[in-house]
Amino acid sequence: MSEAETIRFDSLDISGEVLRAVAKMGFTAMTPVQARTIPVMMAGNDVIAIAPTGTGKTCAFGIPMLEYLQLKEDYIQELVIAPTRELAVQIAQELSALARYIPEARIATLYGGQPIAKQMQQLKRKPQIVVATPGRMLDMMHRGLARVDRVHTMVIDEADEMLKMGFVKDVTSIIEATPQDRQLVMFSATTNQDVMTISWKYQYQPVEITVEAVAENKPQIAQYIIEADRQNKEDRLLYLLDADEYHRIIIFTNTKFMTDRLCSFLQKKGYDAQCIHGDIPQGKRTKVMNDFKHGKFPILVCTDVAARGIDVFDVEAVINYDLPQENEYYTHRIGRTGRAKRHGVAFTLMSFQESVRMDEILRYLQGDKPEKLEFDEMGVLRHADGSAFFENV
Ligand code: ADP
Ligand code: MG
Repeated sequence: MSEAETIRFDSLDISGEVLRAVAKMGFTAMTPVQARTIPVMMAGNDVIAIAPTGTGKTCAFGIPMLEYLQLKEDYIQELVIAPTRELAVQIAQELSALARYIPEARIATLYGGQPIAKQMQQLKRKPQIVVATPGRMLDMMHRGLARVDRVHTMVIDEADEMLKMGFVKDVTSIIEATPQDRQLVMFSATTNQDVMTISWKYQYQPVEITVEAVAENKPQIAQYIIEADRQNKEDRLLYLLDADEYHRIIIFTNTKFMTDRLCSFLQKKGYDAQCIHGDIPQGKRTKVMNDFKHGKFPILVCTDVAARGIDVFDVEAVINYDLPQENEYYTHRIGRTGRAKRHGVAFTLMSFQESVRMDEILRYLQGDKPEKLEFDEMGVLRHADGSAFFENV
């Protein structure tokens, strides 16, 4: 595994343009999933890759996609399907970065919540690559605006989440509209029955790639639990923010209502916070996401769906203001930090009522157990061994 990690991008048989772009992005060595997927995909195989979040799956499929591209042709050759709008936008951005030195590459991003007309403009430019959410893609296909009958490679990203979100029918309709001999590649953080069914039905002799969540590969995330009542959760949160240790923070809540409420609470207290959730218009969501990515404000409050798969380069801290309702969401949430082997920290503010939920999550986590922190009588947050958590508070 460490062997795979030392394989450099320049040992691949790929074009100078993509290599230069990768270097420009600051990458030299491939991550394990990249080292294993890129050659197999370039050889034309169907692939099912299971890898934890933050392991570089986007470039793993992005590079082979760009290598195949027939630039002179103007039909859709490469199709990526992603579960959420934010993720589609993010994948398209990463592909654009990879295609920085290939000016003839045209990428369209199609997702719901934005006027069809605007996205039709993108299709008029005859993209060779389309990144889309399933619903909007089907809509475009039904309107006769996008044809997938000459697609060479179809990638299903976050397949587990997509199928869990109820997109099975949409995804299979799209697959069935592509040529039978297209290359079908699936990426997923976990396997589940739906993922395996799609693989079994539509993939031809797929190469299975599993990257274990081993220490080296796994994001380094220090996890902490802080007990808090409903009444003092806000104070606990402010304590963490006031420590002034973290300059890019994501706070998760379970509901749109709570997201709005907490965000305006923070704003009233003078914190530079903004929020995203499903009821916020798409244009606004995209702007907030981009501003957060570019460091224009430090605190993002959001719900799970809005944040799924989002990669912001250096989120330093994730705070679970509410305990997630689904066990896997805990992993997804804290996976927003410690990306690509950076260090990250995750705090969970747990009320007494939530401790039963937390026990369930702990059972699900198996290996990594969060450490419990406590406030002393003076209101100083301390480790179990008595040392202060923040040095400067
Ligand atoms: P995943 O889809 O597996 O969750 P992403 O593709 O979103 O992961 O990548 C996670 C982060 O790692 C991104 O910020 C990406 O730019 C970065 N990254 C990707 N490949 C490499 C690499 N070879 N070296 C260093 N960082 C990388
Ligand atoms: Mg991804």
